[in-house]
Amino acid sequence: MNIPFVDLNAQYESIKDEIDNAIVDVIHRSAFIKGEYVRDFESEYAEKYGVKHCISCANGTDALFIAQKMHGIGPGDEVITTALSWISTSESISLTGAKPVFVDIEEDYFTIDPQKIEKKITSKTKAIIPVHLYGQCADMDPILDIARKHNLYVIEDTAQAHFAEYKGKLAGTMGDVGTFSFYPGKNLGAYGDAGAIITNNDDLAEKMRMFANHGALKKHNHKMEGINSRLDGLQAAILSVKLRHILDWNEKRRNVASLYSELLAKNESIITPEIRGKSKHVFHVYCIRTGNRDKLKSILEDQGVSTAIHYPTALPFLEAYEYLNHKPEDFPVAHRTQSEILSLPIFPELGSENIEFVTQKIIEYEFNNI
Ligand SMILES: *Cc1c(COP(=O)(O)O)cnc(C)c1O
Repeated sequence: MNIPFVDLNAQYESIKDEIDNAIVDVIHRSAFIKGEYVRDFESEYAEKYGVKHCISCANGTDALFIAQKMHGIGPGDEVITTALSWISTSESISLTGAKPVFVDIEEDYFTIDPQKIEKKITSKTKAIIPVHLYGQCADMDPILDIARKHNLYVIEDTAQAHFAEYKGKLAGTMGDVGTFSFYPGKNLGAYGDAGAIITNNDDLAEKMRMFANHGALKKHNHKMEGINSRLDGLQAAILSVKLRHILDWNEKRRNVASLYSELLAKNESIITPEIRGKSKHVFHVYCIRTGNRDKLKSILEDQGVSTAIHYPTALPFLEAYEYLNHKPEDFPVAHRTQSEILSLPIFPELGSENIEFVTQKIIEYEFNNI
């Protein structure tokens, strides 16, 4: 057996003609940087989200950085975020000069625990960055209540949750801004690096657009210094093609997830992912928890099943944040979770026979270890 963790080629095969034509078009028109394909993708993306602005940029890390920087976040400020995420989330805070302040996660959903946010708020706190981890929304209602009460800016890190929903609202549209990554392996992935920011705030949108392009909206008219963070035309054209399929792919991911959960339900030593009520999970990652994580991972590897860990070290415990002197007991849930989680193969084209094979190997292993 050889079951990859993701199979981007299977997706390409299913839309090959559309993609190939799009790429050839961009090359014929030499629309490599900015230009019509980028404009088209931005307006299509904004329309799908029902928001006024989509500002494309080079990647999801830049999207987070630009969104903070243009709100004026910098040295002396603090930004609250979750203890469990990819490093981009906290790295982008430090890049502005501000200090990342971590909050533990909710036991069942892996996202920031709203009940633990308020005690981390100080006079320096400027923003909260909830992450819609693995494709499931953070508990936005209490987060937004806290943000309103303390006048905090909210950036939704939606890199893993394209078109996920929370109580009928799309992920990325509930806070002040939503940031996205279109890294190839994400649910909506380009064929290289790409990112975007969405917002309904006109003033902020203009600043972010300017900053991402050397501080200029018109050529040579630099109103400030910015950075070079552009989406290129090839990626934009590819993303426009994929945008037509994303809802279908998300549905297929949900089907994969529900088959996994059904087949693993009877196994007491495996905890399958909980789906938040009134929400739509888009299963960027299908993450189980088990006490035997490392052994199970190697057994599956031996059977040809690729798995991953998102993430083996929670952010506060990374060497990069040693200077913050965090201890396991500061983030007990994240600390325990990091050694229990295992991400199983998931992609829209993953067949049920493969899902059955994976779950059968898990059940056999767990059975032998009771
Ligand atoms: C992928 C990811 C990012 C960063 O995106 P890049 O495009 O790789 O820079 C940010 N946050 C989270 C949660 C991610 O998963």
